Amino acid sequence: MINITLPDGKIVTHPKGVTPIEVARGISEGLARNVISARFNNRKVETVTPLETDGSLVLYTWNDEEGKKTFWHSSSHVLAQALEILYPGIKLTIGPAIDNGFYYDVDFMDHTVSEKDFPAIEAKAMEIARGKHEFKMREVSKADALSYYEDHENQYKVELIENLEDGEITFCDHDTFTDLCRGGHIPNTGIIKAFKVLNVAGAYWRGDENRPQLTRVYGISFPKQKELTNYLHLLEEAKKRDHRKLGKELELFTFSQKVGQGLPLWLPKGAALRERLENFLKKAQKKAGYEMVVSPHIGQKELYVTSGHYAKYGEDSFQPIHTPKQDEEFLLKPMNCPHHCEIYNAKPYSYRELPKRFAEFGTVYRYEQSGELHGLTRVRGFTQDDAHIFCTHEQLDQEFKEVIDLSLYVLTSLGFDDYTAQVSVRDPETPEKYIGSVGNWELAEAAIINAAREKEMNFEIVPGEAAFYGPKLDFMVKDALGRKWQLGTIQVDYNLPERFDLTYKGSDNESHRPVMIHRAPFGSMERFVALLLEHTGGNFPLWLTPVQAIVLPVSEKHEKYAQKVLKSMENCEIRALVDARSETVGKKIREAEMQKLPFMLIVGDQEMDQGTISVRRHGGEDLGARSVEAFSDLVKNEINSTLKRFKEV
Ligand SMILES: [Zn+2]
Ligand SMILES: [Zn+2]
Repeated sequence: MINITLPDGKIVTHPKGVTPIEVARGISEGLARNVISARFNNRKVETVTPLETDGSLVLYTWNDEEGKKTFWHSSSHVLAQALEILYPGIKLTIGPAIDNGFYYDVDFMDHTVSEKDFPAIEAKAMEIARGKHEFKMREVSKADALSYYEDHENQYKVELIENLEDGEITFCDHDTFTDLCRGGHIPNTGIIKAFKVLNVAGAYWRGDENRPQLTRVYGISFPKQKELTNYLHLLEEAKKRDHRKLGKELELFTFSQKVGQGLPLWLPKGAALRERLENFLKKAQKKAGYEMVVSPHIGQKELYVTSGHYAKYGEDSFQPIHTPKQDEEFLLKPMNCPHHCEIYNAKPYSYRELPKRFAEFGTVYRYEQSGELHGLTRVRGFTQDDAHIFCTHEQLDQEFKEVIDLSLYVLTSLGFDDYTAQVSVRDPETPEKYIGSVGNWELAEAAIINAAREKEMNFEIVPGEAAFYGPKLDFMVKDALGRKWQLGTIQVDYNLPERFDLTYKGSDNESHRPVMIHRAPFGSMERFVALLLEHTGGNFPLWLTPVQAIVLPVSEKHEKYAQKVLKSMENCEIRALVDARSETVGKKIREAEMQKLPFMLIVGDQEMDQGTISVRRHGGEDLGARSVEAFSDLVKNEINSTLKRFKEV
């Protein structure tokens, strides 16, 4: 008999060789039906793997991320089989599960695949699924694995196997199909009830531009048809909210081939939006004791050698600046931290002067392959709302709490109310991987966990995910379509203070090392605006939106009155415009709706006579005739209800 510990601490006893699915059945028939994946002693196992020792078992269903990943990984085998049947002679390479579905990178040889082929692939995949084929893992020797794929003339799999150790190579079989695979599958193909090929795209073998170009086939699958229908509906909605499309329609930003790929150009409305976001954060940061600093866009190579970034990220990540003088080496800055360390080093500090909180909207440049560029979310130049806090070890606890306060203020003011956090700590098995004293790490990890607890945040602790130089907390927000985004990291750092020899004088009159915290609630202005566009569908919070109201004169004779209304809007600090074109009011309303302007103020004979405006809200609600003052109060109240003041939330 063996003892199996379940996640709730309960121990169940079973005969040796019991499988996870049988353990599930011992708990309930319902659970057994829904279990699609398992971990034993924190290692992925099949639901039919015989368990031979005591250990801890976690069972996953479709409702768990891990369950979904297993479901989609298994579905990629089905996709690969369907493709092999439909396109004989193709070479399969790799096919992982991703956040939403899975893909398979395929060398299609002489075949081509496009959208018109998707229905046939889906039909074949569903036919395989209905066969209820079990996934069976088997160990293979390296020699046998190589010869299998040499026989199939698949140089890609041969290359993958060459990099694996003999004794740890496994194949997975289902139906007539075999693939190189590390394991972790659903019980059988039959639980796949809906299967969709989403799109095809080019991808290089191993992500290397100099290696063969493959075709990446993206797919998604579900245990219920209804879930696929919902997902496709969400995709449609996401397309409508695509920030690249909205950015163009709302005239926020553009790209120019002449300027270069991945280098966004902010148009006046976008720049105004960005400025408002910056001012919003600056105001809160000022209250929180931050000081603004400014640093240049380039730095000497030596700076990044000192920081360790050069060795870590490789010279390809850095864009050199050529100067006329020989032996001078400047690089475009990929991050602001080294510059801020030198700002700290500009004068000596005593413990009484700490913490120092240096903030900068710092523009940085990083090379991204052109295939990786995507609207504002993957760019080559972007501005971080960066800040670095230098404090004593004793202050870390309080500082961390304050950074969380500020980050939550930013998120909730912008309508991101659904968030969780991940706290990344050391892997207790490999303490040697981390720099800084064990005592300090313990302090810092405890500080982060306490802070998250005190703020009553929904968070999970993930061992082994900390950077070698310090623990961190990441915010994960869910947008209006239920998609998860990582937003705002708070990172503790013991490394840079060491490398830049940062010190302060303690109460003991001795020299000490400060701790450094990196934080950026928006992340970058570019990515944040993209996210905000997709979250709100372009209907920004009223306090932020570039134009809050548009005055629509009914005809030419109302234009003078419209201009008068505009003046009074300006006096009330409402951002407004007049649409004085000689178009019908109906057309002007339609266009204002397209522009997602929150309020339309219609002025005709009656309004002119009574000195009022007829207010229409975006979306069609008619608020009737109002005085300018009453409208101004309405706007102010709406703004105050969403935009609280920092520290008054
Ligand atoms: Zn597999
Ligand atoms: Zn930093």
